Amino acid sequence: MMMARKLVLLSAVALGGLMGMSPMAQARHRDGAAGPADTRAQDLLSRMTLQDKLSMVFTIDGGGTMGNAPVPPGGLGSAAYLRTPAGLPPLQISDAGLGLRNPSHVRPHGQAVGLPSGLATASTWDPDMARQGGAMIGSEAWRQGFNVLLAGGADLTRDPRGGRNFEYAGEDPLLTGRMVGATIAGIQSQHVISTLKHFAMNDLETSRMTMSADIDNAAMRESDLLGFEIAMETGHPGSVMCSYNRVNDIYACENPYLLTKVLKQDWKYPGFVMSDWGATHSSARSALAGLDQESSGDDADARPYFREILARDVKEGRVPASRVDDMARRIIRSMYDVGLVDHPPVMQPLDVVTDTLASQHDEEEGAVLLKNRANLLPLDPNARIAVIGGHADVGVISGGGSSQVDPIGAPPIGVVKGPGKKDWPGDPVYFPSSPFRMMQAEAPSAHLTYDPGTNITRAVEAARKADVAVVFATQFTYEGMDAANAMTLDDNQDALIAAVARANPRTVVVMETGDPVLMPWLDNVGAVMEAWFPGSGGGTAIARLLFGRVAPSGHLPMTFPASTAQLAHPDIAGVTATNVFEMQFHTDQELVYDEGSEVGYRWFDRTHAKPLFPFGYGLTYTTFSNDGLRVRHHGHDVTATFTVRNTGTRAGVDVPQIYVGLPDGGGRRLAGWQRVTLAPGESREVSVRLEPRMLAHFDVKHNRWDVPSGHYRVWLGSSATDDSDQVTVHLGGWTMAP
Ligand code: BGC
Repeated sequence: MMMARKLVLLSAVALGGLMGMSPMAQARHRDGAAGPADTRAQDLLSRMTLQDKLSMVFTIDGGGTMGNAPVPPGGLGSAAYLRTPAGLPPLQISDAGLGLRNPSHVRPHGQAVGLPSGLATASTWDPDMARQGGAMIGSEAWRQGFNVLLAGGADLTRDPRGGRNFEYAGEDPLLTGRMVGATIAGIQSQHVISTLKHFAMNDLETSRMTMSADIDNAAMRESDLLGFEIAMETGHPGSVMCSYNRVNDIYACENPYLLTKVLKQDWKYPGFVMSDWGATHSSARSALAGLDQESSGDDADARPYFREILARDVKEGRVPASRVDDMARRIIRSMYDVGLVDHPPVMQPLDVVTDTLASQHDEEEGAVLLKNRANLLPLDPNARIAVIGGHADVGVISGGGSSQVDPIGAPPIGVVKGPGKKDWPGDPVYFPSSPFRMMQAEAPSAHLTYDPGTNITRAVEAARKADVAVVFATQFTYEGMDAANAMTLDDNQDALIAAVARANPRTVVVMETGDPVLMPWLDNVGAVMEAWFPGSGGGTAIARLLFGRVAPSGHLPMTFPASTAQLAHPDIAGVTATNVFEMQFHTDQELVYDEGSEVGYRWFDRTHAKPLFPFGYGLTYTTFSNDGLRVRHHGHDVTATFTVRNTGTRAGVDVPQIYVGLPDGGGRRLAGWQRVTLAPGESREVSVRLEPRMLAHFDVKHNRWDVPSGHYRVWLGSSATDDSDQVTVHLGGWTMAP
């Protein structure tokens, strides 16, 4: 019955001030003391009836998301809506993390500016860039009347085939936490609540509605939960969304370990927990475990749990009234804290030019140059250039699902290249920012031709006549399905690239992908740039990067494997299901993450596997040297100091990284980094404070972080496999609160 109901829900779905955190939020988290938002929330709560309080904990479908649900009176058309009591503003709740969504095109003027994928932003390793992107999408939400954004995806990439990896920030908890936290701070600087999601272990889409992610608590604290923890303390999100899946057998939205023990007790989280759409499975059990608000409960869940059923549970004593107080207080507190009451949205047009520029800059910093034989890039602005494939004459591809933005400037462009028969999420949407046209504008003296790449013979002919060939490869990924294609480009694109490279070895490949893919032609091409899903200013950004107007400075936030055999879990059970419904509900399987916290590059380090490209890797148009590493410690402060020098002939950005190896072994861990901009010949001394939790194990028995006493190896490198500079340091060991 429940399953049938969910299937109905999902097929309905298928139809269809920059500087961030409030000082008060910071104070509240650090010392647990009440701030003004707590006092105001408590004051209002004391004047509310039980019925008022209950009405805060249940949102209704906002129209559009569920396809057949109408926009409710007062709603704008979005994921959910809540008419609040006691003079509070209504909650207008919208997706998502890459821009303001317009589900089922329900709002006639619902187009917005889209950021590049979360992986592109993570590749910048630049929290200021993430904060600016967050502020941009937050301001668009606010100008369109929304005050809650379902933005802040922090699930780790445990598998490079994950369908939603593009929404997140990669495989490392420190990088993820800092980058997603900065995005959240940017959004909330616009008086829009940001939602850290999907809490937790929603690292795969296959069987996401039913599967149990099984992992021991210590390993979870050191990996996925650490990413959420750092994002939370960096960005102070007003809300957290619990995920669909089970964690160690218990649904995330009724999991007391996750919601109460870790989030609210250990991390002292003062905000509220909302469920993902269709992730609530009970009333009393969920409320007692720590769920504060059921999302779109009239439509998304099997029953509207947090309405009459919860009221009855309170009346009959299964849920104490004090718990309802706490649920309502947390929601109201976040509303005051983020400024929803004092700075309500004022409807006004978007600043499309400024916002598109913000998106373009994000992509310019986030694209990763993976190969550049004999300085093939930047391109000669007078060359004959054959541009091939990827619909580069039209625009840039974007990822599908609830993070999809309706692009400005054109109707969404459905193209034939989708992964075949499916009703969710529809054909890939191309943002109308054409790399080909932007290349023409960037290099008016170049002779540029475009070939769609659908006929290999014709594409080869075009490449042969040119000085350089630039092939655009695209791979659509989307919410609800993981990639079943073993990390291989679809639509014969590998054969196209191989043939073009045979005809013209001066071939550049620009990848617009949601995940890493294998590159069987890598040795035969001249250059490769990973542009991810490039966003609303993507065509301009790519053109400027290719011609060297800006130098690439992105570094990979995830390992690019050389084969699926290298992964901790080479097969994903159920990934070959033929449609999204089958896949999400595939089985009730337990997925045992026995690799524990050794995720991504740590797994590769432990198994001595050689990736195609390592985590942290990225080239630019100049060269750098890093040396003179020394490590000092003063109490619990451990700092690495070294010198970075630009040894090339152009200005550029380096991202030196510090990794640590613990005394008792295990794969190395990223403990800090710095972005450094240097002119040719310039050098600078840089100090990086190591994140103490990266030196620690989580001790479940004593509920604390434990930095073991012993000799630590510290590496300074340009990636997770760079061994060039390392020292050993002895630390006396200490413990830290959870
Ligand atoms: C997704 C969430 C999203 C929600 C509302 C769910 O299916 O998992 O990320 O915010 O829908 O659209």
